[in-house]
Amino acid sequence: MRQQMLPYGRQSIDEADIAAVTAVLRSDWLTTGPMVAEYERAFAIAVAAEQAVALSSGTAALHACMFALGISVGDEVLVSAMTFAASANCVAYQGGTPVFVDVEPDTLLISPTAVEARITPQTRAIVAVDFAGQPCDYGRLRAIAQRHGLPLVADGCHALGAKQGSKPVGILADLTAFSTHPVKHITTGEGGVVTTNNAELAQRMRHFRNHGITTDHRQREQLGSWVYEMVELGYNYRITDFQSALGISQLKKLAGWIECRQKIAREYDAAFGESDLVSPLTVRPDANHAYHLYVVRLNLENLRADRRKIFAALRAEGIGVNVHYLPVHLHPYYRCRFDTQPGLCPAAEAAYERIISLPIFPAMNQADIEDVITAVRKVTEAFRA
Ligand SMILES: *Cc1c(COP(=O)(O)O)cnc(C)c1O
Repeated sequence: MRQQMLPYGRQSIDEADIAAVTAVLRSDWLTTGPMVAEYERAFAIAVAAEQAVALSSGTAALHACMFALGISVGDEVLVSAMTFAASANCVAYQGGTPVFVDVEPDTLLISPTAVEARITPQTRAIVAVDFAGQPCDYGRLRAIAQRHGLPLVADGCHALGAKQGSKPVGILADLTAFSTHPVKHITTGEGGVVTTNNAELAQRMRHFRNHGITTDHRQREQLGSWVYEMVELGYNYRITDFQSALGISQLKKLAGWIECRQKIAREYDAAFGESDLVSPLTVRPDANHAYHLYVVRLNLENLRADRRKIFAALRAEGIGVNVHYLPVHLHPYYRCRFDTQPGLCPAAEAAYERIISLPIFPAMNQADIEDVITAVRKVTEAFRA
């Protein structure tokens, strides 16, 4: 048993990161300065996109996507049921209706067949979620979106650094939202980015994050002008320059961190691939998986305990397992406000009863990895039916 709880994810911060942040703290610009645009350029390059818009959180990034697409009252937006609430909340912020779509049981990625079945004349967009860090089936999703004239949004908050074939997450959909919360692939403390090849949507999101004002403070200073105009109802969703500097420094380490995550995943695959008590999720053949999460499903048929008991036993072993996610339509807010009921997305609901996320983050050492494998084996064998 471990003395210290191993978390399911955590950031890696080095001296270069700290130096980058302190340099900005000593400069003239703490916010809306030159680092933001530099971060956006670096982020766009990292995912091979033409545009990146940095915001204060992944949630703000998703909200900006819905705003840029003009989602409003009466509009329906299809959203994967197996995700963090923010993927759907962004639709509700705009007064739209999230319509929950079931997932494929083996990957927990949005089912293209279920997407097509939920399209109505009110549907205005599709939000796919690259669950755990694996790209969705964008080939089929793009074809469906095109056929129905719908924009495709990727919630890529799990999937910075992932690819489908040779194409990075960030250009597989019309708009892709990322988060830089400390559990994600790179961190700026709080932060988010939207990437796109659509310059017009990028411009709308830049206004949106700055109150709907058409020029920012620095542009005004360059123009020597006090004039500004608010043309839309935006928000203050700006990111600071010191966060942007941290982001630039963190991005340099992304590729190495993805390799670390993939190496840990290969060890878990080898340990659990043949198990009759737990099964890893399926990885699609063309996926280069970024492994924000490593999720196993408990084979409850072969176990005498439910997920609650096994979860508690793993925590007692010092393994900071987690559950991602309660399907969004089962949260009380959605059940009350949108009348979503159990049974709406059966595959997501069935998966929820048996999923556990194991610790995975670049700073894990070999002993940590082995502790997880040993604990999962010990606990599941103890409950073998
Ligand atoms: C983390 C996350 C978000 C929200 O990101 P924040 O930066 O915490 O606002 C949205 N969607 C998914 C799938 C996430 O994992």
